[in-house]
Amino acid sequence: MQGAVELRGVVKRFNTFTALRRMDLTIRQGEFFTMLGASGCGKTTTLRLIAGFELPTEGHILIDGQDVSDVPAHLRPVHTVFQSYALFPHLSILDNVSFPLTVRRVPRRQRLERARAALDLVQMGGFPDRKPSQLSGGQQQRVALARALVNEPKVLLLDEPLGALDLKLRKEMQHELKQMQRRLGITFVFVTHDQEEALTMSDRIALMRGGEIIQLDTPSGLYNAPSSLYAAEFIGETNMIPGRVVEAGAGRARVEALGGHFDVACSEPPAAGAAVTLTIRPERVTPVAANASNSAGGRLVDVDFIGTDLRLVYTMSDGTRVTLRRQNTGAAPPQVGQGAQLGLAADDLRLFVT
Ligand code: ATP
Repeated sequence: MQGAVELRGVVKRFNTFTALRRMDLTIRQGEFFTMLGASGCGKTTTLRLIAGFELPTEGHILIDGQDVSDVPAHLRPVHTVFQSYALFPHLSILDNVSFPLTVRRVPRRQRLERARAALDLVQMGGFPDRKPSQLSGGQQQRVALARALVNEPKVLLLDEPLGALDLKLRKEMQHELKQMQRRLGITFVFVTHDQEEALTMSDRIALMRGGEIIQLDTPSGLYNAPSSLYAAEFIGETNMIPGRVVEAGAGRARVEALGGHFDVACSEPPAAGAAVTLTIRPERVTPVAANASNSAGGRLVDVDFIGTDLRLVYTMSDGTRVTLRRQNTGAAPPQVGQGAQLGLAADDLRLFVT
């Protein structure tokens, strides 16, 4: 299937600085696609290239199969929503939303009809005559969205659009945005540095680092099967366990770590002697019987109460700390100082050569 947006061999240099290294990427029709990464990794540059605010140094950009590399921003079938809502303060909400249609010389009646429909879509049809200053941040962002949708863009580009909202509103808007995207079937290209937001909202995520995509995956793929230590650390919480391979077999390695031995499932096991880091998510660590395989003993040093969950931190016999996360069932948490045997199942461990 033809992509909604395609980047073919796109490189972006600012003078001598390379912000994007040869990017090849196909964003599918109707998907919620997120570019995620730390500050400076090139997310916004990629978005600006798609929007046409920047031109690629090398390569081509296609929207709906058409090469738009030389098409100016205002003629591309995309619309960008920024973190700063960029509404006109002196115009009413309705006029703000109908503005893009005014620019395109759409007749007044049709313009107002479409603007009202767009406001209804974001549940802001109630006060079309108010000025932006008479709205809350979340309401202003909804108006900015309505203004983006009024042109019926094929692709909506969203640059940290929820960044200025407080946490509760942000969560609500995450939900609404996703619902809206599903309903409208428009391709959303979303930029965020917030990994939780990316996991919650996206069909697929491009994790970027240093001007490159280092993993392109579904949220569960990225979380459950990070392809690098960087991805494992960037997405969610993870235990990092130093170890050494003692035996390599077909599809598995045996690793000495935490004062014990662990079998680890891996497609290309490194040779015996290799220094490795094992990772495992805290919710996959489980208390087990003292003689269980793939386990090691530790002592509880810290308990964090996080409402729905408890975080239990153990120091293992080699000094490594291992965090276990479990649901809060209402039972009293274990006492600091208690010993426990922690199980790390072969399929839950991931291995990276260090
Ligand atoms: P943030 O989350 O901080 O917005 P980002 O991942 O969106 O980060 P970009 O804005 O894409 O990062 O910037 C990528 C790199 O390119 C950064 O090192 C930035 O300093 C550089 N850069 C961006 N725009 C320009 C420019 N116009 N001139 C020179 N360097 C630039």
